[in-house]
Amino acid sequence: MDVRRRPVKNQSHQRPVKQPTAGELLKAYNQPKPSDALPLPLYLTNGLFFTIFFSVMYFLLHRWREKIRNSVPLHVLTFSELAAVASLIASVVYLVGFFGIEFVQSIFRPSPDSWEIEDDSLDQIMLAEDKPTKQCGELLIPRIVAATTEVAEMTKENNKEKIKPPPVTDHSSSWSVEDEEIVKLVVDGSLPSYSLESKLGDCKRAAKIRREALQRITGKSLSGLPLEGFDYESILGQCCEMPVGYVQIPVGIAGPLLLNGAEFSVPMATTEGCLVASTNRGCKAIYVSGGATCILMKDGMTRAPVVRFSSVKRAAELKQFLEDPMNFETLALVFNKSSRFGRLQSVKCAIAGKNLYIRFCCATGDAMGMNMVSKGVQNVLDFLHDDFPDMDVMGISGNYCSDKKPAAVNWIEGRGKSVVCEAVIKEEVVHKVLKTTVPALVELNMLKNLTGSAMAGALGGFNAHASNIVSAVYLATGQDPAQNVESSHCITMMEAVNDGKDLHISVSMPSIEVGTVGGGTQLASQSACLNLLGVKGASKDEPGSNARVLATIVAGSVLAGELSLMSAISAGQLVKSHMKYNRSTRDMSKLTSSN
Ligand code: ADP
Repeated sequence: MDVRRRPVKNQSHQRPVKQPTAGELLKAYNQPKPSDALPLPLYLTNGLFFTIFFSVMYFLLHRWREKIRNSVPLHVLTFSELAAVASLIASVVYLVGFFGIEFVQSIFRPSPDSWEIEDDSLDQIMLAEDKPTKQCGELLIPRIVAATTEVAEMTKENNKEKIKPPPVTDHSSSWSVEDEEIVKLVVDGSLPSYSLESKLGDCKRAAKIRREALQRITGKSLSGLPLEGFDYESILGQCCEMPVGYVQIPVGIAGPLLLNGAEFSVPMATTEGCLVASTNRGCKAIYVSGGATCILMKDGMTRAPVVRFSSVKRAAELKQFLEDPMNFETLALVFNKSSRFGRLQSVKCAIAGKNLYIRFCCATGDAMGMNMVSKGVQNVLDFLHDDFPDMDVMGISGNYCSDKKPAAVNWIEGRGKSVVCEAVIKEEVVHKVLKTTVPALVELNMLKNLTGSAMAGALGGFNAHASNIVSAVYLATGQDPAQNVESSHCITMMEAVNDGKDLHISVSMPSIEVGTVGGGTQLASQSACLNLLGVKGASKDEPGSNARVLATIVAGSVLAGELSLMSAISAGQLVKSHMKYNRSTRDMSKLTSSN
């Protein structure tokens, strides 16, 4: 499940509010609460006071009625009535203290419990696409400016036993006394690590403090993990929680990839040696053969909730309703209302007993679209409740979507962009650039990518290494790397053409899930890679065209990667054959190297 939010727009986090010290923070945590009244668990204390309150109320009202009936003055109290009044006052004081005072206080002071807001369930977040995202530190407590001696004393005691051999970090001059105090609060558990961004109002400082606390708690050094040189504000509420640094992945360039008449330099983020070089060789073979052609067959993101009824009959009735072409317009109207770009394309249902899986498919513009489609689905589910009040929504995602898992439904129906890419590689290019022959490639493709994968029971894995290229391009361009699973579904076909001289190669990829807005695409490095490809952000001319071009680039790069690796493997076989049958004394192994 994809969990993404809108880009943070207003990065301002310096708020002119009173700034609490670390001591004030700690005091707020340690304040006595009404629930401390009895040494019992909270629910028992509350239960007890509620019971007392209602029983004495009942008792007193009962007595009051008796007195009125018997004309006894109300102010004359027996001992039991006095005890009841005392108990009533005690329970009222407790309950007001528990619910009233805390509530009233929370209105007037910046709540130290603000991070509870961050504990929204993930599925809430998933549907919160268009909600304004909380800014770093915007909610409440700004910078902690000074640590009091009192806190220093308190934390010293607390930390004595817990803190492991510290500073493995080489602190820069930016490390302050307050930072040190806050680290101690985090280490001893007084200040939750996840609340640092909202408490401090400075994401970089939050990451630095969290990182230091982590090193002290674990006793392990993070010195190889960089902290500096990254915009921590840009990931808040969108890309990564509780950051302590960032991982560096080198980016190589393959290309130019000549695709549909345009040239692209393809950024690939990888730590696998030879991958970029090999893809580059494939690009060269395609280029000198006149380029590749890529066709987009389909463009629609899917989400499939699971709903349950009390009978198969009712589930079937909903299926009929949803799949009836007469109802499509109404459903589309309801679905489309939450986004300018999400446009319902189709609804396909699968039934399992009383449970119905409804696969909604929609266009999502330049966004990869998971959030968008989820919001549209929610609109339809709310709408359906009027006519199907007995429908239980068991989950907004019922895995018939199917996201980030190998599934035949994506392989057959497609998900995201369904793309086919082809090229004709000239015989001499196969010889000179790829160092192999057309028949050897065709035969290897049949044995490896088709028969071998069939023998292995592959699902969408009829290729040599599509996922290598998909993952590297996804990482470089800020795609969701987990969607590499279905995005790498690919069948590679090879055939001898032009009287058996040249090679026709194609890759068919039915579920390439990419976007050029949202998620990781707006981060500086990823955005630079999208810019290099000319597909950064939302397309101004035609919404969705940037994402579609990106999908074709992914497929074109896979074509190059397939061509090169298959050639290397078949050339390896050629080398062996030559050695065996021609007794060559030349060092044929050089032929397998990329160039
Ligand atoms: P996803 O649906 O892929 O998870 P996000 O919700 O993160 O994507 O980002 C999509 C957001 O970008 C939406 O709020 C949408 O309104 C906005 N947006 C702006 N321009 C476009 C565009 N050309 N195509 C799609 N979405 C766009």
